Amino acid sequence: MINLKNNDLLRDACLIAGEWSHAQSGKTMPVVNAATGEKIADVPLMAQVETQRAIEAAEAAQKEWKTQTAASRAKILHSWVNLIQENSEDLARLMTLEGGKPLAEARGEINYAASFITWFAEEAKRVDGVLLQPTAADQRFIVSKQPVGVCAAITPWNFPAAMITRKVAPALAAGCAIIVKPAEQTPLTALALAKLAELAGLPQGLLQVITGDAKEIGGELCRNATVRKLSFTGSTDTGRLLMAQCAPTIKKLSLELGGNAPVIVFDDADIELAVKGIMASKFRNSGQTCVCANRIYVQSGIYQALSAELVKAVEALKVGNGMDDGVTQGPLINAKAIEKVELHIHDAVEKGATVLTGGHKHALGGNFFAPTVVANVTQNMRFAKEETFGPVAPLFKFETDAEAVNYANDTEFGLAAYIFTQDAKRQWLIPEALEYGMVGVNTGLISNEVAPFGGIKQSGLGREGSRFGIDEYLEMKYVCVKL
Ligand code: ADP
Repeated sequence: MINLKNNDLLRDACLIAGEWSHAQSGKTMPVVNAATGEKIADVPLMAQVETQRAIEAAEAAQKEWKTQTAASRAKILHSWVNLIQENSEDLARLMTLEGGKPLAEARGEINYAASFITWFAEEAKRVDGVLLQPTAADQRFIVSKQPVGVCAAITPWNFPAAMITRKVAPALAAGCAIIVKPAEQTPLTALALAKLAELAGLPQGLLQVITGDAKEIGGELCRNATVRKLSFTGSTDTGRLLMAQCAPTIKKLSLELGGNAPVIVFDDADIELAVKGIMASKFRNSGQTCVCANRIYVQSGIYQALSAELVKAVEALKVGNGMDDGVTQGPLINAKAIEKVELHIHDAVEKGATVLTGGHKHALGGNFFAPTVVANVTQNMRFAKEETFGPVAPLFKFETDAEAVNYANDTEFGLAAYIFTQDAKRQWLIPEALEYGMVGVNTGLISNEVAPFGGIKQSGLGREGSRFGIDEYLEMKYVCVKL
């Protein structure tokens, strides 16, 4: 049984057209506690028919919403943030239960999620147009920005709140309506957020949440011509599929896909700082974020010293149920995630790598994995090519700057990269040479509402957050006036 201060936040129905609805088929799907495997709740297993209903409601609602002033839209967004803050402990608990991340991290995510709403409530007021110089004296050229219309968001389980608000807030601020299909593992956080938006006075149909069959709901969201934009965060494979499904209706797309983040630690790095940065980037959410360090390249002169310090830090992590005090590492999301981690370690060891600590399932069983450091990792191993998405730090050795940059760029992904160096020249030149959308210099934490989050290459399209993020939900309109 879940103990919340406000039990109304535990929803067993979806918000469609202003009504808390069950699936027409009557079917439900279970939501399980990531740490214990126990069922927490059932949510509706919705499909195409409910998705169509939501799209119709969104279309009607958006027509009204887009006529409101930015200030009045912002006012509702601010009320939503206030309610999220007031209920943050309940939201964090729901998130830890269904997603598994330690409660402290879940609390941090609620603040992070709220920051996007506040940010975009303010940005709404700065959606300005321009007057261009006409090419004849009797003309006037006006460029304005208008909301895209009905939008859809398909979101992952690793940030059950922030990946929703990072899409929903700019959409609503811009004057769009948005339909969210949360990940099947973490629908409760999404439904609770929708409940709070309803309480904040958001008119019905503007934010709708549909849980259920990903292929059916996603299929309709992509196929339906009324939906003008899809924003997706998830795996590159699913992103590729959704992009293809959106091609017939030429939808605007934002895709935040997989990463394969390199960390480059140069000989001149401050070891303590580098280890701190690696720990923050690699082991947050048990290694399950798309900006998590996936490959750690260490220059030969510092390799031994850095590995020793990293092992110490990793062995100090506390694995357990995210609800328990002091736990820093929750479970992985499911058995498949454990299998992938085991496969990558096994592959590396077979090809000559050495496990320095961990390397196996945690004694707690279930989906818990022991935080791991693997040394002597090379470019021919899976660690170099694929996103591990688990609590494993693979250490590669390099000699020259050029070699490190080549290794780092040798991937189809291009989301986040990190470097650790005290050399000012390297701090400028290496980020310039790295083919990534985001680079952290002497830090492992780079995401916030102010900065443009997003990748290049097969890590995605578009940017979220920042003053650029609202443009993804706006279309430019040019009006040529002949006087
Ligand atoms: P992961 O493997 O980490 O769960 P996915 O990319 O499969 O990553 O999932 C991210 C989101 O995409 C989830 O909400 C999931 O339900 C959704 N999803 C997965 N497959 C499809 C699909 N075929 N159509 C629409 N949504 C999908």
